[in-house]
Amino acid sequence: MATDSAFQQCINPACGAQYAVDEVHVTCPQCGDLLDIAYDWNRLPVPACLADFQAKWAQRLDPLAFSGVWRFHELLPFARREHVVTVGEGQTMLQRGDGVARYIGLDAGRLYLQYEGLNPSGSFKDNGMTAAFTHARMIGARRAACASTGNTSASLAMYCAVSGLMKAVIFIGSGKISYGKLSQALEFGALTVQISGDFDDAMARVTEVSKRLGIYVVNSINPFRLEGQKTVMYRVLEGLGWQVPDWIVVPGGNLGNSSAFGKAFSELQQLGLIDRIPRLAVVNAAGSDTLFQLYEQGGLRWNHGYPDRQHIADYYGEMDTQQRKASTIASAIEINRPVNLNKCLRALDVCRGVVARVTDQEILDAKAQVGLGGFGCEPASAASVAGAKLLCEQGVIDKSERVVCVLTGHQLKDPGATVAYHTTDQEQFNRVLASRGVSRAAFANRAVAVPNDVNEIVKVVQLYS
Ligand SMILES: *Cc1c(COP(=O)(O)O)cnc(C)c1O
Ligand SMILES: [Zn+2]
Repeated sequence: MATDSAFQQCINPACGAQYAVDEVHVTCPQCGDLLDIAYDWNRLPVPACLADFQAKWAQRLDPLAFSGVWRFHELLPFARREHVVTVGEGQTMLQRGDGVARYIGLDAGRLYLQYEGLNPSGSFKDNGMTAAFTHARMIGARRAACASTGNTSASLAMYCAVSGLMKAVIFIGSGKISYGKLSQALEFGALTVQISGDFDDAMARVTEVSKRLGIYVVNSINPFRLEGQKTVMYRVLEGLGWQVPDWIVVPGGNLGNSSAFGKAFSELQQLGLIDRIPRLAVVNAAGSDTLFQLYEQGGLRWNHGYPDRQHIADYYGEMDTQQRKASTIASAIEINRPVNLNKCLRALDVCRGVVARVTDQEILDAKAQVGLGGFGCEPASAASVAGAKLLCEQGVIDKSERVVCVLTGHQLKDPGATVAYHTTDQEQFNRVLASRGVSRAAFANRAVAVPNDVNEIVKVVQLYS
């Protein structure tokens, strides 16, 4: 039994084992299930209302007040201030997007986009990495590792390089990582281990190797990471003047975000800081739809902490027998064995959630629509918008409801997909997109070819502008 006001706790109610925050476990040593960071809120100072956090804006020379994660320190109080490692993450924004609302089928003024691509390494991962990294520092780690489809490694490499506190070791599958992300890990000096396999293989190997060598693991199986990711929702509420929206829509990969969001809302409600919880929609890509298959098709539920484990095991067994591999242009969610599945089931329960599934075609069209709004996103992020559109068409989301789509990563993370969508080069389109079942680019903005001649150029500019 942990005695501190912050401790680790197994999410399996049949186990419920507790561990101190300065212990390091990837999963529960007793039963193997996922761990939560839990708090004895009665012994901790909690603000009387959420608007109190705005006072921190006046103290922006204090790095902990400047950080969009740590200015909510009271809501993730597992670390002492002096241990916190911050690079100013979480300076992101919520923007009303009427153009995208129209595309989705929502009334004007009802859609908001949360741009997490504005983080220092270009994705929401920084929210979680600052928290996991802080914990790694608390326990004196010298090396930190992750398996990554790209953004986790970019973020880890950045925290290691900026702080100089640890060496980053990253595991990537072969041929799956986009250049924007790989370039970050390489340039920030991470040891980059390329495995001949996919993300699910890299995830399995990082766990084994780190265990053997005593390396700190920062994948989202790490419960401290999810504490940092809760703050995405605090900032959404802040952006809405502390009003709770009707829907949060988020892409689902390893299901860390969706799990963290559910935890954030259930804690805020428990603390009396909000009076209702928004509904959650998690969006899978059609080529990596484990959550959709289990939750929507198979009826798998959290079931008070007792999800049908046999059902899950059977599903994975069948996946292995048929040698099904995840495949989508949205590489950040190209994951068939989401490590946070059980936590996500809990979040879906708390938030009366739904799971949607969208094709690569729908993802890229939605991405083009997001880009037209001025701030772009990478393919995985656009799954949220594509999912919201689908759920609107299905009548699950009503056009008058207030919807927040989380845009998880920056547009420049994966320029290959964007350029292929807008290209005039049919060969390039086929190679990158047609091979993924994308047959058209309805919103392509194609470059116009002209001879090197002023009169010809003038004609073209007048014709098209
Ligand atoms: C990691 C990542 C995701 C998936 O998030 P999970 O928390 O693993 O579900 C989605 N989009 C982007 C851009 C990511 O980097
Ligand atoms: Zn346990």
